[in-house]
Amino acid sequence: MLSDWKVGQVEVLLRKGLVSQREIARRCGVSRGTVRTISLGMRRQRPPSNEGFVPPEENPQRCPGCGGLVKMPCLYCQLRQMSREHMRARTAAKQ
Ligand SMILES: [Zn+2]
Repeated sequence: MLSDWKVGQVEVLLRKGLVSQREIARRCGVSRGTVRTISLGMRRQRPPSNEGFVPPEENPQRCPGCGGLVKMPCLYCQLRQMSREHMRARTAAKQ
């Protein structure tokens, strides 16, 4: 993703209108399509920030399955169990 600084640089050059979009692309190291997109004001919005994200409060516990210090239920053990069931189903299907 383009940095805000680079987008700003392209916007300044576009506003000045002294050089072609091709030249702006060359000078800023971006594609002509990018310059065109910025010139049309169609630049994608920034992805939502993770501001306000609250991590799970539950404290990690010792998993009885794998012995890892994890937030229950243990994802590793769940995946291992699913994998085992998957393999069992595949083996049964072959017979
Ligand atoms: Zn586990």
